[in-house]
Amino acid sequence: MGNLKHYYEALKNGDIFFDEYRKSALIMNAVTIMHAIFAVFFWVTGVAVMGVYNIAIMVAYQGILLLIKKKKTYLAYILTCTEVVLHAVLATIFVGFASGFQVYCIAMIAVSCYITFVWECFKKGTRETVLFSLFSMFGYFVCYILSKYFEPLIPIDELAQTIMYIINALLMFLIIFSFMMLLFWDINHRSDRLAAKNSQLDEMSKKDPLTKLYNRRYMNYELNRRMSYLIGEGRIFGLIMADIDDFKKVNDTYGHDAGDDVLIAVANEITGALRGDDCVCRWGGEEFLVVVSGNHQVTSDVAERIRKRIENLTIDTNGHQLKVTMTFGVSESIPGFRIERLIQIADERLYKGKQNGKNCVVKE
Ligand code: GH3
Ligand code: MG
Ligand code: MG
Repeated sequence: MGNLKHYYEALKNGDIFFDEYRKSALIMNAVTIMHAIFAVFFWVTGVAVMGVYNIAIMVAYQGILLLIKKKKTYLAYILTCTEVVLHAVLATIFVGFASGFQVYCIAMIAVSCYITFVWECFKKGTRETVLFSLFSMFGYFVCYILSKYFEPLIPIDELAQTIMYIINALLMFLIIFSFMMLLFWDINHRSDRLAAKNSQLDEMSKKDPLTKLYNRRYMNYELNRRMSYLIGEGRIFGLIMADIDDFKKVNDTYGHDAGDDVLIAVANEITGALRGDDCVCRWGGEEFLVVVSGNHQVTSDVAERIRKRIENLTIDTNGHQLKVTMTFGVSESIPGFRIERLIQIADERLYKGKQNGKNCVVKE
């Protein structure tokens, strides 16, 4: 019982993946069992011809399943739809409308909706569902008209008719309910998976794959946001342009992979030095841009804090213990200044720091 519950939960959460074939196999096997019940009924009530027909249909459904396995899904669908209507008409001719075999024409509309939504070959089009619904309706009325003008070929007693009607009607409700549930289930799974994929893509579009920091595109968005807060609410901020000193030498001496390890370690160190309201991105190769909420002094202090942390950092890579330093250019937000201008100022100060011997913070 516990196992069954676990299985059901896994199924509900989409952990168990049911491909088209497995879904079809479930449906076809259920239909085969239904026809086995019909065969027994017809046999017991003495309608041997329908009994034989139902046994033949059981075999045919396994053949249809084979067609699905061979990706001939469209043909399998047409054959199934035709069989349901044909069975309804034949059963009406032999045992009458009162036995209720025509109700499967109604149930098949729900099945058709589900199949055309789930099976790839229909491309979620509604054409087949509309066509089959009309065909089912036609089949139902053919049964009705036949029963109006012709007596059943092999009349069965009323009790058997009533029992069969109840079984058929119950199965019809069960089929409609199950397939509607399956349809909701599938739609929910698909939209959940899509939402997860979307947020993954959204995250990927914002981040640098190596350092997992925000990328330049996201930072431009963030800077525009900060600028509008500055103009609207007077929330000042500062920019720090930071660049690893002599990084080329690290690559040249220890290899590109070691260089990557350094970038990751530096990124983590900068992130660790910031408060929740601040934001850092990988601006370019070994350049990082930090946005700090606060005035020029606060921003310069943050830059100095990062500088010290990087200076004290030892990076283990490939059996080597590397040490690097960084140079920082700081600029402050000025309402009315374009963001590009603020970045340019930070960049110019960074350049000045490089000229002045590196491993320093330049704030003016
Ligand atoms: P400076 O102190 O003046 O900044 O010198 P530098 O050597 O750090 O600067 P330079 O611009 O000469 O070299 C930057 C190097 O960074 C060159 C480039 O190959 C390397 N680089 C850029 N992106 C990556 C990366 O993703 N991984 C690695 N390993 N290296 C990178
Ligand atoms: Mg550099
Ligand atoms: Mg550089």
